[in-house]
Amino acid sequence: MVDLVASTEDWTLCYVGLGSNLATELGSPIQHLQQALTSLAANLQIRELSASSFYVSVPMGPKDQPDFVNAVAGFETTLKPLELLSFCQQLEQAARRARLRHWGERSLDVDILLYGQEQIMTPELTVPHAGLIERNFVLLPLRELAPKLTIAGKPISYYELSSDWTGLKLLSADQ
Ligand code: AMP
Repeated sequence: MVDLVASTEDWTLCYVGLGSNLATELGSPIQHLQQALTSLAANLQIRELSASSFYVSVPMGPKDQPDFVNAVAGFETTLKPLELLSFCQQLEQAARRARLRHWGERSLDVDILLYGQEQIMTPELTVPHAGLIERNFVLLPLRELAPKLTIAGKPISYYELSSDWTGLKLLSADQ
């Protein structure tokens, strides 16, 4: 018998952080981020995709590496958390993710920042992302995208107060 009751899909609002500071044969850091956004938009289990501006940030780790290009993307998805993690890792692999050293250069890093209001603490996944509230290159693009967002029950503006915005700027057209 045909089920006439429309299936209600569960769409969850998520945010992911994107970062790159290494060019590969596939493109520049900016192109790696653009390609990741194109792939997110092409996924049928993702809708309502929006992206922040691109920012340039000084590296957290060794200083003898190029600045990072960072952005945050927001979207609704029917992917479950581990499925989304796997998709993020596919995006990294597609950019030939190269890692030269800990905290070092990388062609593409994609982290799940928030998955709805869920708090996840498993060996594979920590959500909200452990670095979310202390990394200016995540907080600023996230605020741009979702100024009314609450994180762990507090408005995003609460976390901004303690942020150090030095070493972070908007990507300019000539970069
Ligand atoms: P990294 O590439 O250095 O950001 O770390 C990748 C590892 O972090 C993967 O093995 C993931 O399983 C784990 N991980 C834990 N929480 C997260 C998260 N919120 N987003 C992405 N990776 C995560």
